[in-house]
Amino acid sequence: MELNENARIDTSQVEDRRGSGGGGGMGIPIPIGGGRGGIVGIIIAVLVALVGGGFGLNAATNGGGSDQGDNTALEQKCSAQDALKQLDCRNTLYVNSIQAYWRTAMPEVFGEQYQPSRTVFFSQAVSTGCGRADSGVGPFYCPADDLVYIDLTFYRLLADQLGAEGEFAQPYVLAHEYGHHVQDLLGTEAQMRRQQQRDPNNANALSVKLELQADCYAGAWAKNATGTSNAQGQKIFKSITDQDIQQAIDTAEKIGDDAIQKRAGRPVNPDEFTHGTSAQRQQWFTKGYSTGDPKACDTFGGTL
Ligand SMILES: [Zn+2]
Repeated sequence: MELNENARIDTSQVEDRRGSGGGGGMGIPIPIGGGRGGIVGIIIAVLVALVGGGFGLNAATNGGGSDQGDNTALEQKCSAQDALKQLDCRNTLYVNSIQAYWRTAMPEVFGEQYQPSRTVFFSQAVSTGCGRADSGVGPFYCPADDLVYIDLTFYRLLADQLGAEGEFAQPYVLAHEYGHHVQDLLGTEAQMRRQQQRDPNNANALSVKLELQADCYAGAWAKNATGTSNAQGQKIFKSITDQDIQQAIDTAEKIGDDAIQKRAGRPVNPDEFTHGTSAQRQQWFTKGYSTGDPKACDTFGGTL
């Protein structure tokens, strides 16, 4: 994968809450794999990693709105010559590409206008419309405030603890979360939650379908990513290789529910699956990628 080093990075699409004032003060900073102790911390992180909304935080109505981002430093950094050497600037550019894709694809494919959503960079803990979250939950989308949240140190966990090392794991994670945003905009997410309430015995199976669809949407973006441009009309990617796509597929394998249970030394229990098996996650990402068409991502098979 090669990003276009001349492409302007639009930092207004992210909100940097990592600064001293923006981190959210008195949170419960539980470092991944640390405070919670080895493998247990990892399992918790990954079980809920790449989650959509409704992962049990449930709006704690904690005053809200007190966390404010400050993009000044990020903006400066990402307009510098060597911006693409910086993890946060590269991730901002991934967000730019993913949203550029949906801005075109959503009206084309679903006949609806895309509403942009920012990604919040936080460290350790953050206040959200879905309640307070710490890094241990992994990246997530909150339907209540329409924001994607990520502590960028998650990628280190993905690489070191789970062996998903390729750089392309990063845009895959972000594209998966924006997939949840698209589901929110289309009403899929709300329909799924209602269905879960009507049919609690199938709540996990329904969650799996939602998650696999987000993987498929990520694949559809990946297929079309080299065609995306920023607001100035500059191409965002110079190239994406087969190896990059393979990295996304490898990541999907590493974060499958069965893989995580095995890794934790537990018996594989399909009743506990919420995101899908490794095979399913790979299959649906690949379906999105091979078709390049979000319409092909009907994991619900018309059952919603
Ligand atoms: Zn998810």
